[in-house]
Amino acid sequence: MENSKYDVIIGLEIHIQSNTQSKMFCACPTHYFEKEPNTQVCPVCLGLPGALPIPNKRAIELCILLGIATNCDIEKEIHFDRKHYFYPDLPKGYQISQYKRPICSDGHIDIKDIDGNKYEIGIERIHQEEDVAKSTHHSEGNTEYALIDYNKSGVPLIEIVSKPNIRSAYQAKEYANKIRQIVRYLNISDADMEKGQMRCEPNISIQEKGKWELKDGKILPIGDYKLNPKSEVKNIGSISAVEKAIEYEVERMISELESGKTLIQQTRGWDANKGKTIFQRSKETADDYRYMPEPDIFVIEIGSDDIERISCELVELPEEKKNRYIQDYSLSEYDSSVLTADRDISKYFEKLLLTLSSSFDSQKAAKMASNWITGAVFSISNDLKIDINDINIPIEPLSSLIQHFDKEGITRNKAESLLRESIESKTDLNQLLERALKEKETNSQNIDTIIEEVIKENEKAVSDFKSGKQATIGYLVGQVMQKTKGSADPNKARLLLIEKLNG
Ligand SMILES: [Zn+2]
Repeated sequence: MENSKYDVIIGLEIHIQSNTQSKMFCACPTHYFEKEPNTQVCPVCLGLPGALPIPNKRAIELCILLGIATNCDIEKEIHFDRKHYFYPDLPKGYQISQYKRPICSDGHIDIKDIDGNKYEIGIERIHQEEDVAKSTHHSEGNTEYALIDYNKSGVPLIEIVSKPNIRSAYQAKEYANKIRQIVRYLNISDADMEKGQMRCEPNISIQEKGKWELKDGKILPIGDYKLNPKSEVKNIGSISAVEKAIEYEVERMISELESGKTLIQQTRGWDANKGKTIFQRSKETADDYRYMPEPDIFVIEIGSDDIERISCELVELPEEKKNRYIQDYSLSEYDSSVLTADRDISKYFEKLLLTLSSSFDSQKAAKMASNWITGAVFSISNDLKIDINDINIPIEPLSSLIQHFDKEGITRNKAESLLRESIESKTDLNQLLERALKEKETNSQNIDTIIEEVIKENEKAVSDFKSGKQATIGYLVGQVMQKTKGSADPNKARLLLIEKLNG
């Protein structure tokens, strides 16, 4: 998509559902996923006349926390506004949102660009609003109808609007990833895109190089250049689709311009199956939401003591954590990124590291913990299709397994297969380890007998070896391993075999 003639200009709007127990302006529960429709509603979230909204303190704290984590300025007064539009999923006829005074503004986060360099993406604003209901469309025979579920109506929603300084689909993807990591680390949201807890809407335009400039967050033409209009893409269901949708849209716009057409401002939908954006509607004028101050909610004052209290919830964020792993434990950049991509994984890593540190120096312990988690644990989770966070391996037995492996008590393969067995059959890893150690002891007493047997049973391989085909030794070692159910030490078996065969 690199094109010498055009610059790509992207702004990203991200909506995040906050992890609160109750909705934004009423006491109804927020966890609506797979619940019976319209069972978690009240006059407030149904938008009945006369119902009064009461702001959710925790939701506002989470919004402020996100602002602090993304280097924003935090408003001292919180004002809510009504944003009017008419749609069945919005029973009041307006959404309570924020207009001119968002809670957080003018922030930024760093991402790693495709060339490996740091790139700063600006955050225009972060504001608090409420989610709308969910409508679904059905048909029966010739009748078409829509159903509305108001369980989602009024769930707290944080909107994060980037500055238009995203320059590529890659940067947009990295930025969305980073925001998701941050909200998960800080427990602001689970940000599961499949469940609609995080939604991304990029707006994209392409402008001729050297003919536009960015001033006060606005794209302005230079001289008599006429700016190309932007398109907005909706219904994007995953972060990788953010990247694909932008790539597609940029190519589409370039080819339209190159074939002499004029672009129009429009809203498009992302069709994940076709890998295409689809035209939805043109947008000739800006939407007029007739914003007005919400008269039912008082202005809420935020003091410096509030900010201080909320700041206490800041934890070490992925970027800082990653750098610390590289510096303190000499882990590779790649391993450190993998271990810090998810807060639960990094917590697990740190616990495992702590127990291993009683037997090894911290760098060795970190290397071992990292190898086991990014290697065996990840591959087992992948093979068994169990989410890495649900895999639930207790720390202490894993640590003791790793130590036995390291002391060459058991082979790496055997250790991994014990781990796999314990996860698959939900058996205590300690028990399996004990059994394996016992087996090993019996087998080491019997190893001579087993080697004799293997030599007797494999005449062809033995004579091949004796006539100089050294490689057959691998096959014979394999036979020994099979008979000992993998508990013999393959190096020892190899040496013993060679000794016997040459003797
Ligand atoms: Zn309610």
